[in-house]
Amino acid sequence: MSDCIFCKIVAGELPCSKVYEDDEILAFHDIRPVAPVHFMLIPKAHIASLADCDERHQALLGRILLLAPRLAREQGLTNGFRTMINTGRGGGQEVFHLHVHVFGGGPLRPM
Ligand code: AMP
Ligand code: ZN
Repeated sequence: MSDCIFCKIVAGELPCSKVYEDDEILAFHDIRPVAPVHFMLIPKAHIASLADCDERHQALLGRILLLAPRLAREQGLTNGFRTMINTGRGGGQEVFHLHVHVFGGGPLRPM
């Protein structure tokens, strides 16, 4: 996806503050953090949103979710954290490349 900013980050065409990388997953800090620690995990492959996933993405989604607490701990979020996946315009999604927000380290509003 040539016009996708997260694909450009994956390709190294745009910079990021990297938290983690493997062959399938990249994690980096959000440029507009909503908490003292705020990063996102994304699949390297372009998937527009959670609503575009199917059974073929099951293992990848599982890997992303299982990585979240490990990276959160490594980023200092030893007391807990919030995960968020905005899906579609109605869900407040702004970047249409699937990403899992992980944030915390300060007071969070109750849901
Ligand atoms: P969402 O509303 O879930 O689509 O969130 C998109 C997030 O991506 C927002 O929190 C933005 O601050 C963040 N974001 C946009 N561009 C970049 C970028 N170049 N590097 C890091 N985070 C970004
Ligand atoms: Zn993309």
